[in-house]
Amino acid sequence: MLLPELTLMRPQTLAQALEFAAEPGARLIAGGTGLVPNMRLGVEAPRTLVSLERVGELQAIEQRHDGTLRIGSGVTLQRIADDEVLPAALRAAAAAVGAPAHRSAATLGGNLCLDTRCLYYNQSAEWRASNHYCLKRGGEICHVAPKGNVCRAAFSGDVAAAALALDAEVEIARPGGRIDVRALARLYSGDGAQPIALEPGEIVAAIRIPAPAGRSGYAKARRRGAIDFPLAGVAIAVGLHSNRIAHLRVALTGTNSNPFALSGTETLIGAQPAAAGAPLAKLVQKQVKPLRTTIGAADYRRQVAAVLARRLLERLTKGDSS
Ligand code: SF4
Repeated sequence: MLLPELTLMRPQTLAQALEFAAEPGARLIAGGTGLVPNMRLGVEAPRTLVSLERVGELQAIEQRHDGTLRIGSGVTLQRIADDEVLPAALRAAAAAVGAPAHRSAATLGGNLCLDTRCLYYNQSAEWRASNHYCLKRGGEICHVAPKGNVCRAAFSGDVAAAALALDAEVEIARPGGRIDVRALARLYSGDGAQPIALEPGEIVAAIRIPAPAGRSGYAKARRRGAIDFPLAGVAIAVGLHSNRIAHLRVALTGTNSNPFALSGTETLIGAQPAAAGAPLAKLVQKQVKPLRTTIGAADYRRQVAAVLARRLLERLTKGDSS
């Protein structure tokens, strides 16, 4: 459980951070609430850590003239939870992560880039060795789906679902200093073994969220209410016109190897909110793919995701965005 010998780099600027991040074997760290426990378990053993903690360019929350919000990846989850300018879904998702001590250290970028989790992976080195490891690292089979050849560990970050529901884009800083902007969904590969689609040396610099319209919220099921990863998490952004749904985006986390925006929500445009809950729950049930990666039963997680979505839509369309 002791951390291995390593070198810690503490750049002050994004340019320096990019330079250090491009070194072979370097790994980025921000709050460390996800990475350090994994290092203690031995599932990660970087030789060099590049801390983003002192990089001032990553710490800002800005609102542009067109209403677009830009949130730096180094902003802590507690700052997001406390900032009343930010959309309710994002604030609620940040507030649902861990305990206050985690949120005061954990960052937006860290939560977006969280590694996937699995009962058979987030274990001590001895435990994993006695089970002959698994596909994700060091082994030849997946203990969850032994006939498959793909890791299906679950993505368990809360904030990504909220950001996807809010149609966020992500700014990626690349070696040399160029910034690429892409839809947030493209940050995720869908492969539980390598879930974050970043090239070596790239850094998530910020997200951009279009000017919020309508209401939004986030709901999460977990084993321990005080502190836990989601068994399922649902974020919704919805707008009404004449008591009919005018726009609707729904995103989920905790059930698949990537957080994802629900397909088919356009079929609910024009529906009265009271009539939309059941078809929304069906869409969720069809698209979530929980497996035996956590202590919660897969079928429970499928059903609870659908129920969370139905109830959250009901709450938001009745006017409660908390
Ligand atoms: Fe390992 Fe399978 Fe779990 Fe992936 S889903 S971490 S391959 S046991």
